[in-house]
Amino acid sequence: MHPPMNNAYLLLGSNDGDRMQLMHTAITMLEKNGGTVTSRSSVYETAAWGITEQPAFLNMVILLQTTKTPTELLAETQYIETTLGRQREIKWGQRTLDIDILLFNNEITEFPGLTIPHPFLHLRRFTLVPLAEIAGLYEHPKLKKTVTELLAECPDKLEVRKYA
Ligand code: ADP
Ligand code: MG
Repeated sequence: MHPPMNNAYLLLGSNDGDRMQLMHTAITMLEKNGGTVTSRSSVYETAAWGITEQPAFLNMVILLQTTKTPTELLAETQYIETTLGRQREIKWGQRTLDIDILLFNNEITEFPGLTIPHPFLHLRRFTLVPLAEIAGLYEHPKLKKTVTELLAECPDKLEVRKYA
């Protein structure tokens, strides 16, 4: 028996250090231990959400095919965040890589410390724009709208543009 293969959409974000390199390293680490990345969006540069005197973020969304459960996947993404962040922590005292689990199949998961779909998915252009690029027709299991529809309705107007 093979364990079931799951589709997980992940948001990668970085606003400190070599942002592009950090995201690529995260993908390499995910492929080593987490599964197979079968789709990836373009990289977008996005104004920092909330605190504006921060450097801009790079964001991208990837589709990871994985046999891990949501909890196992969160442990893996947090391990990667810690590993990549720890190097910077010495220098900057700041986290450099964020990985959010946006969607996991069509599942709704509400554990302490893990909410899927990600609770801010529909409120953030920096999440919806790259997600719509690779999963526009994916239906949000709770809101029952496609990602493209959620993007059209999103009140967030912060700039999100393709990064050369
Ligand atoms: P944000 O991603 O909202 O900017 P953080 O990355 O600092 O904030 O938040 C991390 C916390 O969010 C973690 O402690 C984790 O347990 C929790 N969390 C809840 N749901 C999710 C999810 N779907 N993906 C990633 N982290 C999540
Ligand atoms: Mg996060």
